Amino acid sequence: MKRVLKVCLASALFFLYRAIDPWCRFREVSILAYHSISDAPLYTAVTPEVFRAHLSRLKAGGYSFVSLRDVIAFLDGSPLPKRAVALTFDDGYADFETTVLPILDQFEAPATVFIVGDEAASRSALGNALPLLDQNALTRVRAHPRIEIGYHARTHANLRTLSGGALQDEVRTPFGARYFAYPGGNYSNEAVDAVRAAGYEAAFSIKPTHVRAASDHFLLPRFVITKDPVMRDILFYASRAAAWYRALTRFV
Ligand SMILES: [Zn+2]
Repeated sequence: MKRVLKVCLASALFFLYRAIDPWCRFREVSILAYHSISDAPLYTAVTPEVFRAHLSRLKAGGYSFVSLRDVIAFLDGSPLPKRAVALTFDDGYADFETTVLPILDQFEAPATVFIVGDEAASRSALGNALPLLDQNALTRVRAHPRIEIGYHARTHANLRTLSGGALQDEVRTPFGARYFAYPGGNYSNEAVDAVRAAGYEAAFSIKPTHVRAASDHFLLPRFVITKDPVMRDILFYASRAAAWYRALTRFV
C-alpha cells in the first residue's frame, strides 16, 4: 500500500477512535518499547527532542504513566487509569541514564529497562556499537525509585533457535529480574515455558496491540516506537486505533 494511503488510513482510524471513544469508553493500556534515545542513525533510535515531545503529548492527551508492576496488577484484577501507558527500553543503552532518566523525571514517569547479560556476546545480535549501561551505571539506575531493571537474555539471541540447556542458560536471570523481554520479540512455546520456569512474573513480546485483562502474563504485547513516519503521532500508538491499523494493513 502506498505510504500516503497508509497515512490517510491511520488518520481516519484515529479520527474514528476519538469520535466513538466517549460512548465506547475504551480503556487503554499500552506498553511502548523504545531502544536508544539519541541521534544515532538507527531506525529504532528516537531523538531526545522527539521522546520528550512524546511524553508531553501523552500527558496532554490525558494519559497516565504506569509501571509494569501496575500493568501486572491490572491483569490480576486491579484498576488502572482510563488511559494508561507504560514505558520500556530494550537493550540497556547508556543513554538511558544520561538522556532518558532526566526526561522521565520531569514527567515523574516510571519505566523498565531490559538489559542483556553479556555485552560482548550480544554485540553482533544488537547490530550497533552504541555503549550499554556499565555496572556502575546499573547500580545508580537500580537505586532510582521509579525504575525497574528487567532481563533481555544473556546474548540477545533469537530464542526460536535455541532449546534445552542453551535456552535455559540464555533466559536465566543473573540478578533476580521479575520481567523478561524476548530479544527481537522472538519466542517459541519452549522459550515461553523456559522463561516461566526461570521464575519471572511476566514476559513481553513485540506486537502492535494493547494489553487486555485476559492477556497472557508471558506474552504481553508492546508497540515498538521507531522513526516510522506513517505512525508518527504517539497518541495514535497509545490508542487502539493503532491496533486496528495494524490489523487492516497486515497483509498489504
Ligand atoms: Zn533488544
